[in-house]
Amino acid sequence: MAERTIVPFGDPILRKVAKPVVDFGERTNKIVDDLVDTLYAEHGRAGLAAPQIGILRRIVVMDCGDGLLELINPEILKVDGEQVGPEACLSFPGYTGIVKRYNYVKIKSQDRRGKPFTLEAEEYLARCIQHEIDHLDGKLFIDYIENDQLYYKQSKRKVNVMEVRRMTFQNVQN
Ligand code: ZN
Repeated sequence: MAERTIVPFGDPILRKVAKPVVDFGERTNKIVDDLVDTLYAEHGRAGLAAPQIGILRRIVVMDCGDGLLELINPEILKVDGEQVGPEACLSFPGYTGIVKRYNYVKIKSQDRRGKPFTLEAEEYLARCIQHEIDHLDGKLFIDYIENDQLYYKQSKRKVNVMEVRRMTFQNVQN
């Protein structure tokens, strides 16, 4: 049981592509456990991807109100519709932005033992899944802000999306 430190934006690891999990043993178990502990360490956390705790593996955990979901090597199979709404990220403390996402997704994934499954989701859960899978490909929610609608804390004042986006690319080497 270990809560891990969440990597804030500006760290180049958030822009890297995570590697697939091939070993479903003790090491993967430990990463999933740490992600779950970190997710539940504070009330209101909806999702967390392994790169956000400094591990470049394709693992995400989320609880969007319907219980814990652990996704190993998740892949989107099908999408439909669209939704526009507020989104936040644990690597961007205090920021909220308006982001357009697909309203429906169907994914395939594996559980922590490697067993494959498929899942369909709509609305908020579909949004969470897209946000978290993006993390595995080095994509961040600020890449999709609608009409520069990015806000900091409770202020109604917009912050400069380009400036924040630029900061996420600092120190990134290919
Ligand atoms: Zn995030």
